Amino acid sequence: MYRTHNNGALRAENINETVTLAGWVQKSRDKGFMIWVDLRDRYGITQLIFDEERTPKAVMDLAKTMGREFVIQVTGKVIERESKNPKMPTGDVELLVEKLEILNEAKTPPFTIEDATDGGEDLRMKYRYLDIRRNPVKEKLIFRHKVSIAVRNYLSEQGFIEVETPYLIKSTPEGARDFVVPSRMNEGQFYALPQSPQTFKQLLMVGGMDKYFQIVKCFRDEDLRADRQPEFTQIDCEMAFVEQEDILNIFEGLTKHLLKEVVGFEIESFPRMTYDEAMAKYGNDKPDIRFGMEFGELNAVAQHKDFNVFNSAELVVGIAVPGGASYTRKEIDKLIDWVKRPQVGALGMVYVKCNEDGSFKSSVDKFYDQEDLAKWAEATGAQPGDLICVLSGETSKTRAQLSALRMELATQLGLRKSDEFAPLWVVDFPLLEWDEETERYHAMHHPFTSPKPGQMELLDTKPGEVKANAYDLVLNGNEIGGGSIRIHDKEIQSKMFDYLGFTKEEAQAQFGFLMDAFQYGAPPHGGLAFGLDRLVAILGGQETIRDFIAFPKNNAGRDVMIDAPAKIDAAQLEELNLKITL
Ligand code: ASP
Repeated sequence: MYRTHNNGALRAENINETVTLAGWVQKSRDKGFMIWVDLRDRYGITQLIFDEERTPKAVMDLAKTMGREFVIQVTGKVIERESKNPKMPTGDVELLVEKLEILNEAKTPPFTIEDATDGGEDLRMKYRYLDIRRNPVKEKLIFRHKVSIAVRNYLSEQGFIEVETPYLIKSTPEGARDFVVPSRMNEGQFYALPQSPQTFKQLLMVGGMDKYFQIVKCFRDEDLRADRQPEFTQIDCEMAFVEQEDILNIFEGLTKHLLKEVVGFEIESFPRMTYDEAMAKYGNDKPDIRFGMEFGELNAVAQHKDFNVFNSAELVVGIAVPGGASYTRKEIDKLIDWVKRPQVGALGMVYVKCNEDGSFKSSVDKFYDQEDLAKWAEATGAQPGDLICVLSGETSKTRAQLSALRMELATQLGLRKSDEFAPLWVVDFPLLEWDEETERYHAMHHPFTSPKPGQMELLDTKPGEVKANAYDLVLNGNEIGGGSIRIHDKEIQSKMFDYLGFTKEEAQAQFGFLMDAFQYGAPPHGGLAFGLDRLVAILGGQETIRDFIAFPKNNAGRDVMIDAPAKIDAAQLEELNLKITL
């Protein structure tokens, strides 16, 4: 037996027991006649003591050869510590070592294996296996496990069946590029890795599976934005014989269960908001509603004077910053510079200080009197003491800019508290989205999403206005899940592919299998998928997903530990019938 106890187990009750422990040498203090070692494993730390008078000489000598991160096994007697450490669960006792075996030596680690390490991100990723020994990373992985188990238990109890779907498939468009895998046995042909199991889960519904889920890897070859991973995990779900309302209820239940089980947070029910409302109130389809600062549209109260910037704008819109009236000129200039950064892209910002005495002082006093500004305050909900920040221009750009400013200010003001949770359903998404680059409409969610009843006809006349039976679950300003009620009728699906610019042949070649299946009694169905990595990170009170993934890729999509992607040798290429000149 390698160990009788783990390193987090021993307590005062164990005093006088002879035990065997194993683990890594966290650190040792050698006083010559006495050596103290912190022995670490996944469960904690136990202090070992080697004492010239009580430990055999050979063991004492061997102990002196140990360095950090050596793997050792020790046997000895549990004794009471002279100076107890109340901060450690094992802090009442120590192990007086009688036997020591060095199971493996270790090179000096490239960074300290401590909660606060001196290792930078790159180094930690290169030696991720050492990083995982550190508490903060280890605990995040354990936390992730808890979330996954809670998901499985909950869904299983609700009658969902976890079914695995294949990874070597044919392309399913979810708005990204596919990773492809060459097929050796089928010359010149390629599999695609799933961007999601979308078509398979729909086929499971045709197969009568009724309630499906899967915790599943998905692959998307996107230009990497910060905190995106080319492979990520979804909690993928689908149900048959349901309407949107059923889906929202079931997965609201799951999310509530997770909030309660995992972080002890209880909430009655999740608010709902239409996409249009979210865009108008927050300039964003995934608003953070942990705080207010809702948009106030000012067109009606700001476009009647000689201020041309506003008069020529499609949208004039402001937010009230709590307590912002006390900002100095310098602080306000900083905000103006912030919105003018290329990443935000505003041309400028108008502001109004709402003084405590009820008067206003604005950057456009030349054009607007106190009465005008009072209307602005009313529209933005500004109170005495607040600062109104106003942006103007083309609607969608201006909303995006003000939304960015709103988030920035909330961060500065400490309004985005990591232990607060504000879930929200955003519903009635547009079916289509105009793509500037290709100058055509794309499915906003994916091509399998059904339009709202009665809206199919609008597709010919006002495609941009067609709403879908599509919904997102937002948590603290992040989209943590999204889904839709699907098309289950072959004709409608085929028409949808037409609208999206697929030729009949393309649609048949790519999705013939799905449309064929729809002819054999496809039930009405719908579902959604949660992004597990982000969900776990938010529940864990963090914004970045990387530490919740055991072996993440860096921003260039590389695994720097195993050095992937990598070239493959000529023989392997030949076998795959790939003719690449390297
Ligand atoms: N497959 C979709 C996605 O990955 C989710 C869904 O519609 O169920 O976003």
